[in-house]
Amino acid sequence: MENKTSANGWRCDVCGYVYEGAELPEDFVCPVCGVDATEFVENE
Ligand SMILES: [Zn+2]
Repeated sequence: MENKTSANGWRCDVCGYVYEGAELPEDFVCPVCGVDATEFVENE
């Protein structure tokens, strides 16, 4: 499985919400639990 573009989205490390997009906006806030972008980890 070749997938090196890493455009799979970002996951909230707190609640598991998944943001679908290649780049997470710096000022993004989780709509579920309200944490900021620093709590998001890139999906593999
Ligand atoms: Zn969250």
